[in-house]
Amino acid sequence: MTSLDRSHDPALKSWVASANGHDDFPIQNLPFGVFSPAGEAPRGGVAIGDSILDLNAAVGVGLFTGDALIAARAASGPVLNPLMALASGPRRALRLRLSELFEDNAPERAKVEPLLHAASACVLHLPAAIGDYTDFYAGIQHAMNAGSLFRPDNPLLPNYKYVPIGYHGRASSVRPSGEPVRRPSGQRKLATETVPTFGPARNLDYELELGVWVGPGNALGQPIPIAEAGRHIVGMCLLNDWSARDIQAWEYQPLGPFLAKNFTTTVSPWIVTAEALAPFRLAQAARPEGDPAPLSYLTDAADQAEGAVDIALEVLLAPKGGAPERLSGSNATDLYWTLAQLVAHHASGGCNLNPGDLFGTGTISGKGRDGCGSLLELTRGGAEPLTLPSGQTRKFLEDGDEVIFRGVCRRDGFVQIGFGECRAVLLPALDA
Ligand code: MN
Repeated sequence: MTSLDRSHDPALKSWVASANGHDDFPIQNLPFGVFSPAGEAPRGGVAIGDSILDLNAAVGVGLFTGDALIAARAASGPVLNPLMALASGPRRALRLRLSELFEDNAPERAKVEPLLHAASACVLHLPAAIGDYTDFYAGIQHAMNAGSLFRPDNPLLPNYKYVPIGYHGRASSVRPSGEPVRRPSGQRKLATETVPTFGPARNLDYELELGVWVGPGNALGQPIPIAEAGRHIVGMCLLNDWSARDIQAWEYQPLGPFLAKNFTTTVSPWIVTAEALAPFRLAQAARPEGDPAPLSYLTDAADQAEGAVDIALEVLLAPKGGAPERLSGSNATDLYWTLAQLVAHHASGGCNLNPGDLFGTGTISGKGRDGCGSLLELTRGGAEPLTLPSGQTRKFLEDGDEVIFRGVCRRDGFVQIGFGECRAVLLPALDA
């Protein structure tokens, strides 16, 4: 696991004034992403307060040497896959150098400051060319809530506590925060109908998830031991697994989700690195009495000791023309499997992971109504409409609704860091 160093020091302040006290991007975070200044080509950058540093330009003025230079070059292009392919050494060297460059009274300030762009004037892109996307189902409370709608007496299937359940998703339709989402049309059949019809999805939902960005990969046929799995994770983002529940209900048996989930997946654009998340690691919660222990290929003492991560998550909905209203909140500690277990399981049969692959954790729900990470759970499949604070009601999403996820890490003795927003507006279906 990543250890703490001077880049995590809560006393560090930056000469970038907006970074000090910033909810998401203080000097202790330093997430990587891909951005375009107005009208210019995409390139790698790092977020600091309300600004973005152009890494290619920073390389150009000679701000890096050694391992930090190797990582900065790898992070300079239009996708960050070359950075993700590197081991954590160069990535950490770059983080430490960036921390130094942004620190109050840094002697290089005059060289760095002209290379900053106002984030509000930039377009943010996907941080990587995503080769493969896999969505898990590791939020046990979500699995219980969703399962209980269909099997009240037996919400979890017998494999749940043994196998990290997942399915291979669609990489081509992953989009960065801010890009609108088109309501899909598809085959749907209500329980009251005898045959399906084709048309706009009626029960459109979000799923509150975290994304895991894969770093160094593994060769085909070579599993990743659980003790090494953490080294294959470069960082995390927020992820909205948009889901058309009526299409899903009709198509999902026997092979699982297909068109109900492949029309768009939205991610927050910044990779919050494993290094930045280090202060917020926790022991994985003990499994409840009676649950089986994970099989040995998923068991590692160090992973159990610090494999969980404390990320407070929140869902807001802004109805068309209205202000954002809070729907619910949960925490990444509600995951039944650690991120390392997801990686080790995915590769356990020999499947090769590649730098820039993306995992979704599965919907993260906490206990109770406030913890629900999807409308499916909040409205019990649409049976109990939700009343927003503004008085509007929802069973599922309406055209023009904007869904906003936020995620922050807090711990006594450390500075809060966050993910920025994962947001998108729902557009009407094409033939609506
Ligand atoms: Mn999902």
